[in-house]
Amino acid sequence: MGCFFMCDICLDCIGDTHLKEQLKESAAQIECTYCGEESLGISIEELARTVDGPLRDYCQIGEEETHYSADSDKASYEQAGENLNYILQEEIEIDEPAATALESKLMDMDDYRPQDGEESFYEDNCNYHRRELSSWVYQDKWREYSHRIKHKRRFFDEDAKQLLAEIIGAPGTTAALELPCFLIGPQDPITLLHRARRASGEGKTLEIKNDAVKQLGPPPSGSASAGRMNAQGISVFYAALSKETALAEIRPSVGGVVAVASFSIDRQLRLLDLSRLGEVPYGSIFDPEYDDRVSRLSFLEGFHHLIARPIQPNHEPLEYLPTQAVAEYVVNILDFDGILYASSQSGAVPRPGESSHSNGSYYPSTLSSEELKLYNVVLLGSAAEIGTTLNLIADTVEFRTVSSISYESEEYYV
Ligand SMILES: [Zn+2]
Repeated sequence: MGCFFMCDICLDCIGDTHLKEQLKESAAQIECTYCGEESLGISIEELARTVDGPLRDYCQIGEEETHYSADSDKASYEQAGENLNYILQEEIEIDEPAATALESKLMDMDDYRPQDGEESFYEDNCNYHRRELSSWVYQDKWREYSHRIKHKRRFFDEDAKQLLAEIIGAPGTTAALELPCFLIGPQDPITLLHRARRASGEGKTLEIKNDAVKQLGPPPSGSASAGRMNAQGISVFYAALSKETALAEIRPSVGGVVAVASFSIDRQLRLLDLSRLGEVPYGSIFDPEYDDRVSRLSFLEGFHHLIARPIQPNHEPLEYLPTQAVAEYVVNILDFDGILYASSQSGAVPRPGESSHSNGSYYPSTLSSEELKLYNVVLLGSAAEIGTTLNLIADTVEFRTVSSISYESEEYYV
């Protein structure tokens, strides 16, 4: 349905709340072309002027993608994205007739100079999708935070805490409420955690056999040495979601003896799930905070890689400082019991930028039970206590000799 005459749309026929808020100022009493009601509204022309900027800033014309079919060498071309009408319906949350009127208004108003080589932005035969926005603002915040922690030696001062609040989320904010939570415990699919320890030498083997709780449990609080996610002296329990990953984590040598055991989880624990960090809808392009939100979320999508990546043993003390403070923040300030993250020894650590958002749509990915086997858990504080939260299951203690280790490698460019 074209708009041959003056067309007006009421605010009730526009779904996007941020846009609605913005339009309130210029809205006047009109008769809505689309629902027929007399109500506060604006002309389609006014709507076009308002949405034009954000559409150009945050949407782009889709790239041509080449597809090869399996049974022939012929390539076919397909443009990424969705057509303009659909994009307008989705972004502004309006019905098709209004989108059609708006589409032709936007094409009419598209001011470009072909004589100067400029091209039109609005085309009814083009596809569009949201632009990727850079996460450099948050990369900078992270760098600043890491630098503070590593070099100024003021572990977790107010400024560092403030930076983490901006990156991960301050308590009670939308950002914090959107953090993905993974539950483990007696009523959840994950009821057991596994730990392993090197046990070569007859003395060591017997020591573990005779006092498995002490030898395979975490060190008593106060005497814990610093690790990837815990500063020295903080009660901590590192474990894996499978025996195999627990074994891989201790980097055993071939021929070596290892001990492995399982622990029951006696109450429900809330873990921050790093694999799904940043995977929330990007929200409205008319939100004044959109830019910042996308920058933050796309940084967080790579955060898992940053936190769980392998670190050379000789770099550990310094390189673990930022993640130690993150874990402390997540547990002490955001009230999680611990963190779920991919084992860096199992090759499960994702590369940044693997998930994709288009048009704000959102498909939450949950880890399959096979994938979960490659994950580690760190519990901090009271959740790490043996006897109150965790219990060693005596008949799960077993000793194994390592017969082979598999390594994966990738090309290293010099
Ligand atoms: Zn209406």
